[in-house]
Amino acid sequence: MAGPPADPSHSPTQAPAQAAQAGQQHPSWRRVVLKLSGGLFAGREPLGISPDVVQHLAAEILAAVSNGIQVAAVVGGGNMFRGAALAERGIDRSRADYMGMLSTVINCLALQDTLEKLGVDTRVQTAITMGQVAEPYIPRRAIRHLEKGRVVIFGAGLGAPFFSTDTCAAQRALEIGADAVLKGTKVDGVYDSDPRKNPDAKRFETLGYSEYLARGLKVMDTTAVSLCMDNGLPIVVFALMGEGNVVRAIRGEKVGTLICRRDP
Ligand code: UDP
Repeated sequence: MAGPPADPSHSPTQAPAQAAQAGQQHPSWRRVVLKLSGGLFAGREPLGISPDVVQHLAAEILAAVSNGIQVAAVVGGGNMFRGAALAERGIDRSRADYMGMLSTVINCLALQDTLEKLGVDTRVQTAITMGQVAEPYIPRRAIRHLEKGRVVIFGAGLGAPFFSTDTCAAQRALEIGADAVLKGTKVDGVYDSDPRKNPDAKRFETLGYSEYLARGLKVMDTTAVSLCMDNGLPIVVFALMGEGNVVRAIRGEKVGTLICRRDP
């Protein structure tokens, strides 16, 4: 079956040569999927949601939307439940994964509420149908919302166990024709070893997909990176708590690590 029609409105706005001249890593993007880890929502709380953090995330999204960028967010649930961790404690893995997927929806609603209070139109779409709180995931409808300037928040991952919301971000980005996946984390990019344990850890400015996979790096899961690799979808891993970083990443400024096809 054919995917959504090619949409010229989300192609990058600049030629690559122009971008390189301006010192940008890539031309400005028009439509992005922003992956927000559940861990970010918790802030300093061990569990649950920090309203201050959600306020910051919403302000970053608002800044991007005000710059004419179409933003879809894929929200994680690690601040509440991760299937693999629950399974280690004896809960059936599939059921535990569904618990994890449901926890992402709680974060989605917190983000939706905060964005709407800032005057941003939003729609939550979930991969598990729950009519009272969200629309079902309908890619064409999601694209229409984005074209109208609404932020679309995707919840419940892919609706299937044994996947992560990183993989969901890659899949949703491909299906809605986004230019890139922006993975906001607590760390300011991809390092060759854990910077919290190794003070000499080296941060990559850019990284090829296969190099990322060969090094066994863990910031983004391998299924997600493989999917991006197979489809040439760029990923930026960056510190989401830095102010203005979302817009900077979209504009191709050097923020975090760009994972992409390396020049031959
Ligand atoms: N999950 C799943 N399928 C999906 C997405 C998520 O089963 O397509 C479950 C899985 O148990 C995962 C949990 O939901 O651990 C929360 O998502 P994730 O761990 O990706 O959240 P994050 O690490 O981004 O906070």
